[in-house]
Amino acid sequence: MITDLRSDTFTKPSPAMLEAMFKAPVGDDVFGEDPSVNELESLTANLFGMENALFCPSGTMTNQIAIKCHTQPGDEVMCDKMSHVFIYEGGGIAFNSSCQVKPLEGDRGRITADQVAESINNTEDPHKAKSSLVSLENTTNRGGGSCYNFNDIQLIKEVCLTNNLRLHLDGARIWNALVRKNENPKEYGQIFDSISVCLSKGLGAPVGSLLLGKKDFIHKARRVRKVFGGGMRQAGYMAAAGIYALKYNIQRLQQDHSQAEKIADALAKKDFIGKIMPVETNILIFEVHEPFTPKEFCNKLHQHKILCLPISATQVRMVTHLDVTEEMINNLIRIIESM
Ligand SMILES: *Cc1c(COP(=O)(O)O)cnc(C)c1O
Repeated sequence: MITDLRSDTFTKPSPAMLEAMFKAPVGDDVFGEDPSVNELESLTANLFGMENALFCPSGTMTNQIAIKCHTQPGDEVMCDKMSHVFIYEGGGIAFNSSCQVKPLEGDRGRITADQVAESINNTEDPHKAKSSLVSLENTTNRGGGSCYNFNDIQLIKEVCLTNNLRLHLDGARIWNALVRKNENPKEYGQIFDSISVCLSKGLGAPVGSLLLGKKDFIHKARRVRKVFGGGMRQAGYMAAAGIYALKYNIQRLQQDHSQAEKIADALAKKDFIGKIMPVETNILIFEVHEPFTPKEFCNKLHQHKILCLPISATQVRMVTHLDVTEEMINNLIRIIESM
């Protein structure tokens, strides 16, 4: 049995989820006639109190569609320098939207209202790109699963409102933040112009993300999804997995968070482990020192059928998820203790 801590995207659908997929009523979603997709879209929109939703194949696509719909070529998008939209989407902001990025120096992937305010270009100055969009990530991926304080998001929103900027949330792991901070998704729906959420991470569905927003925005987004090649036909089989995930797999995320903390506690006792980023949710990023390099540390665990990722010359990442059992964690901790 392999313990796969490389990412929470390695989860496999459970028998009950597969059963729900098997039974799903389907139609052609490009014609708007897939009942399961329609149900998932309205369920998710309602959850966040937003007008409408669009089911897409990936979180990269939902982010990229949002950026395309919010900007014009030559505009500038502000985000943290380690944002997924900036570093992990294949240069998509330039490729798809012909925009440039102003990367901000955030704290573990989180930026502040002051930073946004300071980074807005003077629209009267023809030298400058037009600032038009701010993109936040919650929880942060490269920031080690850190969460925003909701109040800090509200302050960013105020800056956006006074400066005519749109505000997008890359909420690939928003579920982890909602559970960790005990927040109401409707508060997010009130603040953001668009929200991208993933079903294929901690929620354990095989594929799928949704883009949420106002009616007109999603109408536009539906066209862009088609242009990007993301219009799917009998996608209801996938949507059914998402509906199942929303019903049964959100609250259990707190187990993933406490398991990540348990691993961090075990790591903290070892001399060859350096700085461990504060563990807020299900992502654990830590430094590995002599006598191991991050790669060697991962290879060592690999011998015990435990997989994790060296993510830089000094750091390793582990991600907990619903296919990681308590027994696997206890086994990992025993191995760390013996190293
Ligand atoms: C995983 C992830 C995405 C989307 O990834 P896809 O693999 O395209 O679904 C977007 N943002 C963040 C922060 C992520 O971790």
